[in-house]
Amino acid sequence: MDKNKLGLIHIYTGNGKGKTTAAMGLILRASGRGLKVILGQFMKGRETGELRTLQLLPGVEVFRGKPITKFSFQMSETEKAEVLQSHNCFIRELSRRCEETGADLLVLDEVIGACGVKLLDESLLIDFLKHKPEHLEVVMTGRNPSSELLGIADYVSEVVKRKHPFDKGIPAREGIEK
Ligand code: ATP
Ligand code: MG
Repeated sequence: MDKNKLGLIHIYTGNGKGKTTAAMGLILRASGRGLKVILGQFMKGRETGELRTLQLLPGVEVFRGKPITKFSFQMSETEKAEVLQSHNCFIRELSRRCEETGADLLVLDEVIGACGVKLLDESLLIDFLKHKPEHLEVVMTGRNPSSELLGIADYVSEVVKRKHPFDKGIPAREGIEK
């Protein structure tokens, strides 16, 4: 395949279900074509179901940021500062790993949410996107991307919630939401 055609930037956003699962579907496709993939998950408390499977796929490397067990508004200033620092290191690590491995696809799951609640310096993310390896395809997920991120992206796909069982009191289910 012609890897020179790679290098575009995707955003999967919106308030409906399906942003992370769409990104995981793309990893499946990319792995099937022999692409090298790196997945970095931000803002996740526990190990998610998909990580177990994805790390078994050929050419796929999976990384998790510092596990987060509270909403940002429940964190003390010290806790926020710690998470911010670890997320800032995480994005640098992922960037280094992409260079080292010659990755073709980088998925930054919930990175947009992390920027939105100031648990990642968006300027670091934007700097990375502007100076990334030319043929590295990047996918970012999360709600409410800034206008600057929207401006940099080549694909912006919005999942709109028409209905979600959470509104009927059905919490996240293993194997479906987590
Ligand atoms: P998924 O991981 O299922 O593809 P997502 O990435 O689109 O969902 P996020 O915004 O990352 O959704 O939401 C985190 C969690 O909240 C997921 O478990 C997701 O299924 C669930 N969720 C998504 N949309 C809603 C909603 N409108 N109301 C309640 N929960 C939601
Ligand atoms: Mg998600």
